[in-house]
Amino acid sequence: LTKYLSDLEIANNATMQPITDIAKKAGIPEQAIEQYGRYKAKIDVNQITTTKTGKVVLVTATSPTPAGEGKSTVTVGLADALQRLSQNVMVALREPSLGPVMGVKGGATGGGYAQVVPMEDINLHFTGDLHAITTANNALAAFIDNHIHQGNELNIDPRRIIWKRVLDLNDRSLRKVTIGLGGPLQGVPREDGFDITVASEIMAVFCLATSIDDLKKRLANIVIGYTYERQPVFVHQLGVEGVLTLLLKEAFKPNLVQTLGGTPAFIHGGPFANIAHGCNSVIATQTARKLADIVVTEAGFGADLGAEKFMNIKARQSGIAPDAVVVVTTIRALKMHGGVAKVDLQAENAKAVEAGIANLARHIENVRTFGVEPVIALNRFITDSEAELAVVLTWAKENAVRIARTNVWEQGGEGGIELAQQVLEVLATPQNFHHLYELSETVEQKITKIVQKIYGGVGIQLTDSAKKQLVQIEKFGWDLLPVCMAKTQYSLSDQPTLLGRPENFTITIREIVPKLGAGFLVCLTGDIMTMPGLPKQPAALKMDVTADGRAEGLF
Ligand code: ADP
Repeated sequence: LTKYLSDLEIANNATMQPITDIAKKAGIPEQAIEQYGRYKAKIDVNQITTTKTGKVVLVTATSPTPAGEGKSTVTVGLADALQRLSQNVMVALREPSLGPVMGVKGGATGGGYAQVVPMEDINLHFTGDLHAITTANNALAAFIDNHIHQGNELNIDPRRIIWKRVLDLNDRSLRKVTIGLGGPLQGVPREDGFDITVASEIMAVFCLATSIDDLKKRLANIVIGYTYERQPVFVHQLGVEGVLTLLLKEAFKPNLVQTLGGTPAFIHGGPFANIAHGCNSVIATQTARKLADIVVTEAGFGADLGAEKFMNIKARQSGIAPDAVVVVTTIRALKMHGGVAKVDLQAENAKAVEAGIANLARHIENVRTFGVEPVIALNRFITDSEAELAVVLTWAKENAVRIARTNVWEQGGEGGIELAQQVLEVLATPQNFHHLYELSETVEQKITKIVQKIYGGVGIQLTDSAKKQLVQIEKFGWDLLPVCMAKTQYSLSDQPTLLGRPENFTITIREIVPKLGAGFLVCLTGDIMTMPGLPKQPAALKMDVTADGRAEGLF
């Protein structure tokens, strides 16, 4: 393995083109470019006047191992391959969060020769969007507590505030905190808690808003808690939607960077797909569609999470229907679903691959449930054996599913030509996209449909507190919203250890949280946390910086 360079080394060795050249290539007019150094820019979307609507290729995956199965890598590699085939293409990806960068996952800029650059900047602070979102979120929290301290005209019940503070870190010790201690001058004491920034409703609103006006309208609509009379309290009652929008206005402009192959890429907005809706910003995807004929985008984790939410939330709210879907899988993930322990994943085991295909089969069915034809990207690792790869290729052939081996990690765009050709074939055929449920169905029906038709479970069970929340949601007429499931990414069920294709399970809905600004109801299942913790050996322990300011150990 020693002959292979790290992602960071490959990224640092690359010769980047000035971002103005990349913008020109994308057809972005000069007056729209706001440069952040030589290789990053924010784009003023109001200056883009083209009217075309490019096709959308959505990249999703099978249920992943903790390291990720290479969705970002394949997204970037596929775009570079399409570019090699003379297609006018752009990438639209999510921004990395420092929580997972320093935790288990590492970066979110792809890998090997299929990366977006400058990877070091993108993974660390980038253009400050996460800071702006964190600040807007915590400013709202401060306004709420100040309102109560200054006389509480709105009669907010401090025990029924649902707005939490956030940080872009994995920090389990902040999940539950008590604030306002120390006497009358320090505010009104109450229980509070922190979420990770990417789970914040501000992040969701930021990613679903179609304009500054829409952003403001959505922020105004956020419910922060309830009064002593159990009536909802909205942001507009506090009168702070204006300042919150002001804090977000620069961040709201999509960030332009480039792939190693020189394909223009927007990286903007970054909600997780397990605890939030998992797709990059609508404004970035829409702008990319105005500029390119094909936009390759990614939704987080498996097709049960990010892709389901892309179809039922993002597509419904923005009209961005996918024209083709790529399902990334790896031999190591299939072996894991076939019962192999993490420490034994390197050893050849074609039988386990065969057993693990059940998970892939479910995700393929899931994509077809939405009326779109999938293409499997078999993301090749150098440790995969021909016998193991053959198992998946044969299965796909026997089951009439398009499949392509991808080698983009090792070869960049060149290693994704077969995948690109298959995707072009799907794009040339009209798809029959539709949502899974109607908004007019009851909340329980919507959740049950997702559980039965996507996860493969038998039904749902609501805790007593979820039942009470549902009664309230129905009373206020919020039950017409789509649902945003918060569920473990490791299993199709709500139990992280149930791998493969579990059956006969029910999903426990622990809590239902209304997110009126985002326009969905978050349904928390199992033990899923909206503030992750760090592992025993965080990726951060390998990170350092040289005396001349270069990053080290960023994977
Ligand atoms: P995802 O988007 O699915 O979470 P990523 O694309 O971020 O996954 O990839 C996760 C990690 O795996 C990255 O560090 C990347 O370099 C590595 N990786 C992806 N594909 C390959 C491959 N074919 N061979 C080796 N490493 C890979």
